Amino acid sequence: MQNLMEQIVGAISRSGLVEVEVSARHVHLTERDVQILFGEGATLTPKRDLSQPGQYLSEERVNLIGAKGRKERVAVLGPTRPSTQVELSKSDCIELGVTAPLRESGDVKGSGTMTLEGPCGTVTLTEGVIVAQSHVHVPPETAQMLELKDKQRVCVEMMTERPVIFKNVVIRVNGNFNFRMHIDFDEANAAAVSGFTLGKIIK
Ligand SMILES: [Zn+2]
Repeated sequence: MQNLMEQIVGAISRSGLVEVEVSARHVHLTERDVQILFGEGATLTPKRDLSQPGQYLSEERVNLIGAKGRKERVAVLGPTRPSTQVELSKSDCIELGVTAPLRESGDVKGSGTMTLEGPCGTVTLTEGVIVAQSHVHVPPETAQMLELKDKQRVCVEMMTERPVIFKNVVIRVNGNFNFRMHIDFDEANAAAVSGFTLGKIIK
């Protein structure tokens, strides 16, 4: 027997509506960079689970240093990854004096440079700074139901009082995903997203 909440969530998904989550600036680190920034033998300490299974906000924080400014105590997300990646909004880039391309997460080749500072050391990245392409995490069952394919591009209309339609939103299908759209703070502010918000997928 499904409970009421599951039925409601199911009905929302079937109609092509997806919950929108706003990603603040954050960092993913390699194991090696964790050791440099936080000391030999250091590991990330999970503080709070994120909506995607296995992903968490860690207790650790880093400072970001660009040509024009700094951002203190920026969130580090775990677990560690094969390459260190900094995800900024365009506004962050302007304030920091950093140039970063619009990219999908994990696609860091030839992306922006900057310095990370931890309590035990600093890491200067030769690449890894990106502005994240807005995307929708889709579990396979939902993808099948909505006839969505991995890497497909769609439009998504924000169900807000400023109903901006985002184009070129990447669909990512994976058995380990929960159904969520991710946008950054610039996109959220442009569309007056605050609190619980749904997006309507338009193909
Ligand atoms: Zn995401």
